[in-house]
Amino acid sequence: MTDTVETDVLVVGAGPTGLMLATCLAALGVRCVIVDGKSGPTRESRALVLQARTMEVYDQIGLVDRVLAEAEIASEIVPGFERRRFRAINLQRLATGTTPYPHLYVLEQSRNERLLVDHLQGLGTRVWWSHRLQSMAVTADGRLECVTDGDEVGVIRARFCAGADGASSAVREMMGIPFEGKTNVRTFYVADATHVAGLPADAINLRFGVDDFLLAFPMGGQADHRLLGVVRGPAEGVTEDSARSTLRRVFEVTYGSSRWFSTYRVHHRVAARFRDGPVFLAGDAAHVHSPVGAQGMNTGLQDAHNLACKIADVVAGRASDAYLDRYSAERRPVARRLVTTTDAMFAMITSDRRVARALRRFVVRFAAPIGASLVPRVVRSPRIFEYLSQTRIHYWMTEQQRIAARARRGRVVGRRLPWNGDNYESLRTMTWQVHGYGALDRRALRRVGVRLGLRVRFFPVVRNRRLRRGACYLVRPDGFVAAESRAEHAHADFAGHLRQIACA
Ligand SMILES: Cc1cc2nc3c(=O)[nH]c(=O)nc-3n(C[C@H](O)[C@H](O)[C@H](O)COP(=O)(O)OP(=O)(O)OC[C@H]3O[C@@H](n4cnc5c(N)ncnc54)[C@H](O)[C@@H]3O)c2cc1C
Repeated sequence: MTDTVETDVLVVGAGPTGLMLATCLAALGVRCVIVDGKSGPTRESRALVLQARTMEVYDQIGLVDRVLAEAEIASEIVPGFERRRFRAINLQRLATGTTPYPHLYVLEQSRNERLLVDHLQGLGTRVWWSHRLQSMAVTADGRLECVTDGDEVGVIRARFCAGADGASSAVREMMGIPFEGKTNVRTFYVADATHVAGLPADAINLRFGVDDFLLAFPMGGQADHRLLGVVRGPAEGVTEDSARSTLRRVFEVTYGSSRWFSTYRVHHRVAARFRDGPVFLAGDAAHVHSPVGAQGMNTGLQDAHNLACKIADVVAGRASDAYLDRYSAERRPVARRLVTTTDAMFAMITSDRRVARALRRFVVRFAAPIGASLVPRVVRSPRIFEYLSQTRIHYWMTEQQRIAARARRGRVVGRRLPWNGDNYESLRTMTWQVHGYGALDRRALRRVGVRLGLRVRFFPVVRNRRLRRGACYLVRPDGFVAAESRAEHAHADFAGHLRQIACA
């Protein structure tokens, strides 16, 4: 006998994206059910790297200490060409003052999933494993009726459904949403290898060759590394032996054995819509791209965080249903930019065109010796870290704001709250809040807080140069800054913004 369950949100898929979505919804007090067709979390290591922005999100949901306890830290990227290594690029130096998490954190996807499953359970929500979504229909009362093949919960009636069900998303198919883009002709290999020789231990290694490339992430253990490269020729002929011999011949990298070896094709695709009425897409269901840049899992986790905060506002009656369109308006451009960038990088690395190969040969033979000393100097801009770590993302908070700004992005509004050294702790409440920086009229700002029903926090010392002294900011539950004002105008400005989302 299977039961029928009523809920606010059905999350389909308990990969990293679905688990983060369910965790944030549970933390925000939204009823949700999460189902997955598998019998438990993935056992494959799959995605490895957590970027700074994801660590900030983990901090918000109270999981960052456990992640820090388990993750390996990579503070450097060592670029190179074939056998040559360049000088290391120190990430911590690039990240100074940007974030409390100035490294790359190596923690495999399977371990992220287990931490999230435990945390979710602690919040009182369990995953319904072995429950695969079979069908979805809208009923006369406007609710979704979803049928699974599970033997505990058969029918789930929900107000919203989020498809976090991976690249072959059943939710996307059921909604008839096109997955636009292309599939690369190349095949990737991944090996979680032990006793690796020929690579610096605690750094991310990025090596180019004329016809090959190698990306390697440290995984602790006994000189363990995730080795990732591209394979020439038909995918069917790819074996671990062929990958191993390329590694030795081109990069002088060898390893003892592998715990996991796999090959896969790289797709560059974005869903035509991230929202269709009460249905949303997030993570790989909404966008897929090459693992160059280690952004895939991070982008899914941040989709989930963004969507959960919006759904919570709507369920609590603070925002209208139309506010949910902002999810697509904010996250789809991020995905499109990511897919375009990784597609271009991937094409540059793997293209068989004569010009591309000639360029790579030139770089390897002639430019590499010069590059060895130049690269760390050229890549000194903190912007590089901000792009990589996903801390530079900008959203238009409302359509009106985009028009008024004539598409010129602000320093603070539309971005995640700049880190001031002491202002992230208050984000753990995941609520709308007002922050005042430097000397300002505290009594006036406190009154604004009372009238709007928002918590107000003061930070007398301004350490981040993006934040303006004497300014106050309306901060969203996801940590993004919705509006900026002065204490004397804050009520009108902030009430105006909140009214807009309530009546959008
Ligand atoms: C071999 C491999 C190596 C990778 N390496 C990297 C890497 O190095 N770096 C990187 O950033 N990314 C990497 N990725 C990509 C990364 O794994 C994904 O970006 C990430 O898993 C996306 O998470 P997700 O939760 O959106 O989707 P998934 O992890 O795919 O989770 C989707 C979940 O939905 C469930 N599901 C599917 N259909 C249904 C249904 N009908 N009903 C119920 N449940 C359903 C599935 O069982 C699954 O648990 C790799 C992927 C693969 C396959």
